[in-house]
Amino acid sequence: MVAALIVCFVSCSHQDSEEIAGEANAGFFAMNTYISMTAYGDQADSVLEEAESRMKELEALWSVTEENSDIYAVNHSNGSPVTVSDETAEILSFALEMAAETNGALDPTIYPLVSAWGFTTEEHHIPSDDKIQEMLSLVGYEKIRLDENQVQLPPNMMLDLGALGKGYAGDTVIQLLKDRGILSALVDLGGNIQTIGMRPDGMPWRLGLQDPFGGENLGVLSVSDCAVVTSGNYENYFIGEDGKTYGHIIDPVTGYPVESDLASVTVIAAEGKLCDALSTSLFVMGQDRAVNFWRQRQDFEMILVTSTGEISVTEGIADQFSPADNEEVDVIYR
Ligand code: ADP
Ligand code: MG
Repeated sequence: MVAALIVCFVSCSHQDSEEIAGEANAGFFAMNTYISMTAYGDQADSVLEEAESRMKELEALWSVTEENSDIYAVNHSNGSPVTVSDETAEILSFALEMAAETNGALDPTIYPLVSAWGFTTEEHHIPSDDKIQEMLSLVGYEKIRLDENQVQLPPNMMLDLGALGKGYAGDTVIQLLKDRGILSALVDLGGNIQTIGMRPDGMPWRLGLQDPFGGENLGVLSVSDCAVVTSGNYENYFIGEDGKTYGHIIDPVTGYPVESDLASVTVIAAEGKLCDALSTSLFVMGQDRAVNFWRQRQDFEMILVTSTGEISVTEGIADQFSPADNEEVDVIYR
């Protein structure tokens, strides 16, 4: 949690001066994380209140544990079709699209494995091979049937939107703020950053990216009007009885936490849902596949940190990133 909070503002130029007119702030817990929002403009206070309730509504729809949620209903449907809200149908449809595009690196049915490794209860442990095989047979996004608002999931399979729910919620809130006339805002959903426009002083937002190895920060990224999302196995992990580190992002092929040649993947794109889905799946893919994937698309940029600490950035964002301590950065070209 603490780590997530550090991600945000490196420099807030107005901090020492008077508070800027029309600045509003909100902070609360939702979606298993701390969410903070800053918006500038008339009525910004009431707009943020509205945004907070909207976020909580989405949480109530997508929670795996809340008995009234859409996801809970699907996960306990024992194979019967369930009618879900428009928002849930939309995020599921997007998750299925991304699962197909990433060749299953992102799999919204990963929950049985996340749970077998203890990430749902904080009672972490290494499951037996038999258990992993058993759980792997319950994972496979191709088996989800989605027909408009009707979802059908085979018995014992479970949905988990943890890899992209925050990004999707971020987009919903950003749209709400824009609809209410907000021209400058920053929303931090536990380290997923989404921005509207520029800072009120007309400068880009300066985001301090987290160093996956625990150093102060990796560097500063200057952005406007976009989302920035980082995934890695450095924050939510445990050390097994065998002394190895096991993180919360699971490889749907092996059933094991990803042993990547990457320490973190940061994705920068227009929308939070794409950033969130991709940061998780590119981490699963590892460096070479992630770079190939980027070369095939035009809709995102990324910053990779390898497990040996090398930083590389794609060419479209290279000018906007300054590494801490003038560290060397490789540029990835098309
Ligand atoms: P964060 O939890 O920091 O937002 P991510 O967006 O990378 O990080 O999401 C990780 C979460 O997604 C895990 O905690 C788990 O619930 C779920 N998950 C783990 N592995 C996968 C996967 N391969 N595909 C889809 N979801 C996953
Ligand atoms: Mg993600």
